[in-house]
Amino acid sequence: TIYNFGSINLDHLYQLDHFVRPGETMASNSYQCLLGGKGANQSVALAKAGADVKHVGAIHHSDQAVIDQLESLGVNTDLISRIDVPTGHAIIQLTKEAENSIILYQGANHALTEDQVDQVLSNANAGDWVLLQNETNLIEYIMRKAQENKVKVAFNPAPMDAELTKKVLDFVDLLIVNEVEAMDLIGTTDIDSTIEAFPKVYPDLAVLMTLGKAGVCYFDGEERLSVKAFSVDAVDTTAAGDTFIGFCLSSLMKGDDMKQAITRACAASAICVTRLGAASSIPTQDEVTAFLAK
Ligand code: ADP
Repeated sequence: TIYNFGSINLDHLYQLDHFVRPGETMASNSYQCLLGGKGANQSVALAKAGADVKHVGAIHHSDQAVIDQLESLGVNTDLISRIDVPTGHAIIQLTKEAENSIILYQGANHALTEDQVDQVLSNANAGDWVLLQNETNLIEYIMRKAQENKVKVAFNPAPMDAELTKKVLDFVDLLIVNEVEAMDLIGTTDIDSTIEAFPKVYPDLAVLMTLGKAGVCYFDGEERLSVKAFSVDAVDTTAAGDTFIGFCLSSLMKGDDMKQAITRACAASAICVTRLGAASSIPTQDEVTAFLAK
């Protein structure tokens, strides 16, 4: 089982001719409300990849549709508490030029309690994993409890908070970062020197670094791998990283080695970037298998 302590957001998307100006009231050309949040996206990717995933988090008690949607995509929702705090959400203005302007409200995503964490992790078994991003509260507490319960920790520190991340690295069995997060953590400004510096600064840490269309590199003190991305016509890279993480961890939990897991995850995220949208652009296992057989 993988316990994903992650954010759940409702993304309210408004298509506008231009961003709303100070004092202006404007009618929207269209409206969509989609499930989002890095946490929920990664749970969906894990489920589609065939992993046994339990999402741990919180939403407002009136948002049953969120639960139904996650369940229909294969995510176990038993550990999502329904509370009297608004569900995390984003108000997103989109213009015709594809620019966006976003208001984020953390809401219930920051309402995890230590009791909830204790309860979840006391039922975990050796061999289980905990996955975390940086869109929820109690990150350090969850990791400490995971370690006490001999559960492995995968951490995707997004959005990056370098101070917090450095503080918790001792608890992390697998760190997953993209280029920007890697540079922020090391304090470098170009990716080549970051790739070179990372294993020197953190020699014992297992790190997966996703490099967009350049692929992925991995190092853990013993092994160094570099895997190229698949060449596809990208239309929307939203959720590429989340798809990668879900498929990679699912593969590792099934016993694949790191090279196999990365390759499968690169295929899944290559399919993802050829489609518009977030959770809806994440492929199924069968689609990934078919892609790799081509
Ligand atoms: P994030 O979405 O977190 O910024 P990346 O941009 O690094 O993460 O993308 C994650 C993975 O998705 C990459 O390692 C790569 O395998 C795949 N990917 C991203 N962009 C492309 C692309 N244009 N073509 C093919 N694969 C891509």
